[in-house]
Amino acid sequence: MYLKRIILDGFKSFADKSSVEFLPGITGIVGPNGCGKSNISDAVRWVLGEQSVKSLRGSNMSDVIFAGSEDRKAQNVAEVTLVFDNSDRYMAMDYNEIEITRRLYRDGHEAEYLINQENVRLKDVMDLIMDTGLGKDSLSIISQGNISSFADSKPEARRAIFEEAAGVSKYKRRKIESLRKLERTTDNLNRILDIVNELEHRLAPLKRQKDKAERYLELKEQLKSIEVNVLVKEIKTTKEKLLDLEKTIEQLQYEEVAKDGDIVVLEQNNDDIKAKMLLLDNEVNELQGKLMETMNQVSQLETRKVEVDQKRKFILENEGKENLSLRIESLKAIVKDSILEYNDRLERFEQMKKEVSTLRQGLQRLEEDMQQTKAHLDATHLSLNEARSRKNMLVDLVENHQRYASGVRAIIHARKSLSGYVGVLGELIHIQKDYEIAITTALGSAMQFIIMENEAGARQAISFLRKNQAGRATFLPLTTMQARKVRDEHLLVLKDTEGYLGLGDDFI
Ligand code: ATP
Repeated sequence: MYLKRIILDGFKSFADKSSVEFLPGITGIVGPNGCGKSNISDAVRWVLGEQSVKSLRGSNMSDVIFAGSEDRKAQNVAEVTLVFDNSDRYMAMDYNEIEITRRLYRDGHEAEYLINQENVRLKDVMDLIMDTGLGKDSLSIISQGNISSFADSKPEARRAIFEEAAGVSKYKRRKIESLRKLERTTDNLNRILDIVNELEHRLAPLKRQKDKAERYLELKEQLKSIEVNVLVKEIKTTKEKLLDLEKTIEQLQYEEVAKDGDIVVLEQNNDDIKAKMLLLDNEVNELQGKLMETMNQVSQLETRKVEVDQKRKFILENEGKENLSLRIESLKAIVKDSILEYNDRLERFEQMKKEVSTLRQGLQRLEEDMQQTKAHLDATHLSLNEARSRKNMLVDLVENHQRYASGVRAIIHARKSLSGYVGVLGELIHIQKDYEIAITTALGSAMQFIIMENEAGARQAISFLRKNQAGRATFLPLTTMQARKVRDEHLLVLKDTEGYLGLGDDFI
């Protein structure tokens, strides 16, 4: 590699485009003082990236652009191109000739760099010339100042310049740099070893944690599949129960319809009996009227008999003997007729008394029948109400089981495996019709309390809930529960209070 040519255009004193050829051997440029010889070496350093305005002997970078002369006006752009022969591929580019150009515009801020006429960055130029000995600080360019300082310098400094020229200092610098890098790398290595050491300590507990986590995941998976199985089973059982309950409800509805029919028939019977009783009452009244009439007639007949007796006595006393026998016969006939009539009426009277008595007995029987029918009707009503409330309870059970707290539901499902389970309070009690809302409101959440036979059972159920994290429930062991009573004096006051219907438990 060597510098073949330099082309200057508008750079410092080179207003016209000028080219200097460097042929093999030594090229010397001669001329009077101030003719512009040093401007050529400035141009070389400028192209190779010189940024120091001072070392370019100016006060501003734009001072490198031709500033004009008496007979020429200033230019606006300076451009210098260095042409290198690279047929030995000394520079890392696959070209026999490499042109490096720098261009600066007077009104521009930044210089333009080009390699083989293509715009590049300064860094690309620096990368290209690095390690070629062309660097701006290298000794490939020795200025007038350098020579005087070389001549004046001490032997040690001069040695440094020789080393620089021989390229040793470059390796020294690289060595120092490499040692520094080595030191930094050793530090890094030590730090990494420390970290590795630390991590190794953590490795055993981490492995244990990892094993635990894997075991946890395995068990979690198992639990999930068990829970799914349990749920499927529960759904199946619940569906079966639902079907049973629906059947029971259907049966109860059927019974309800049948009982309604019975009630209609019984009410019809009742109406018939009432109508019959009314008829019998009328008949009895009529017969009693007739009896009274007959009794009046008997009384009239008795009065007439007394009158006839008196008349006969009077006739016997006052009339002649001749007519007497005739009169007696006639009176005897009258008396006989009257006696016959009397006897006949008496017989009818007795007959009527018997009929009245029979009718009274019939009436009594009818009344008894009616009482029985009424009792039967009441019993049917009662059993119908019971069936209705049982149906309501079952419907409520089917529809509202889901309203139970999760803990209560879990206990209901697991009741067969728990000892001493009696039932949920709300399902065990029977509330009288018309008081259901009042009692369930008063009991509130206590409707979901679970009755257990004893404390041991309750404890077992609580630990079952805790173990399965299935929620909470309140248990009432029968062995420890005690009834509470309202005090007698309070009861006395209550009973006299207007609107008092009874204590809650009176309706359960
Ligand atoms: P010496 O032998 O004294 O070192 P030299 O031949 O090396 O001189 P240089 O110092 O290279 O000469 O050139 C200086 C000349 O360049 C001066 O005449 C100066 O006026 C001229 N010059 C420097 N900058 C510019 C510029 N921007 N425009 C025009 N002329 C310039």
